[in-house]
Amino acid sequence: MYKDLEGSTAVITGASSGIGRAIALRFGQEKMNVVINYVSNEDKVNAIVRKIESFGGKAIGVYGDVTKEEDVKKLVAAAHHHFGSLEVMVNNAGIENEVPSEDLTLDNWRKVLDVNLTGAFLGCREAIDYMLEHRIKGRIINVSSVHERIPWPHFLHYAASKGGIKMMTETLALEFAPKGIRVNNLGPGAIDTPINAAKFSDPAAKAKVEALIPLGYIGKPEEIAAAAAWLASSESSYVTGITLFADGGMTKYPAFQGGQG
Ligand code: NAD
Repeated sequence: MYKDLEGSTAVITGASSGIGRAIALRFGQEKMNVVINYVSNEDKVNAIVRKIESFGGKAIGVYGDVTKEEDVKKLVAAAHHHFGSLEVMVNNAGIENEVPSEDLTLDNWRKVLDVNLTGAFLGCREAIDYMLEHRIKGRIINVSSVHERIPWPHFLHYAASKGGIKMMTETLALEFAPKGIRVNNLGPGAIDTPINAAKFSDPAAKAKVEALIPLGYIGKPEEIAAAAAWLASSESSYVTGITLFADGGMTKYPAFQGGQG
């Protein structure tokens, strides 16, 4: 646990499921105030709020589509209105779908870029604007992916969005370091969440993914949430502009593990 996080406020986008939900619960355990953004799974949000309260934190659920400027503004406004501040912004909302690149429609390309990259941009901009106005040395955490580094055939739009997040994070880190605002990426590997539910329900497909992970197992959302808590806390005070890969070693060329090459 990180004592300095207690009582500070975070907005987490796409937090009604998967990694966002796990980060919300972890921040609750840190006794933070959490704005849980959602567009779906509304029925699950109340349970997350109650769990956070049982940990000693506070939380509210706020509907909002991260591709809509007004909705993202409302998330920051909700943090201010309900909890009086905003110290941590987690841009987590994301989508993916598999399609060979020659068949990738412009609509599909735009939708994925819109949620994953433009949504994160809006979250960064609104949070930074608020932090500058209120002289808060805040922390921005963008949930990227190993696919900001590893090319991913059939997921061209997804890989492009995560590559974009990498440069957005690095540029913002440089721009706002003089104000004490830290901007970092969190790069999960293969994590057991709804985004992967179909793939991991097939044992053969799951085994293929596990073979790409030096630590040998699919990660748990809580393991990503632990990395998010560290990036949010003052224990990472000298860290800005990085991608913290929490990927079981997936970015370390596992095909070479046996000395091949
Ligand atoms: P998930 O599907 O459980 O979570 C994604 C969340 O984003 C959902 O709650 C969804 O409702 C929300 N969302 C989608 N469109 C939105 C919009 N327009 N506005 C607001 N919210 C929206 O899957 P997850 O694995 O928890 O994914 C979370 C993030 O982690 C994503 O950015 C994803 O790319 C990234 N990631 C996941 C993995 C993995 O293996 N699970 C690996 C690398 C990166």
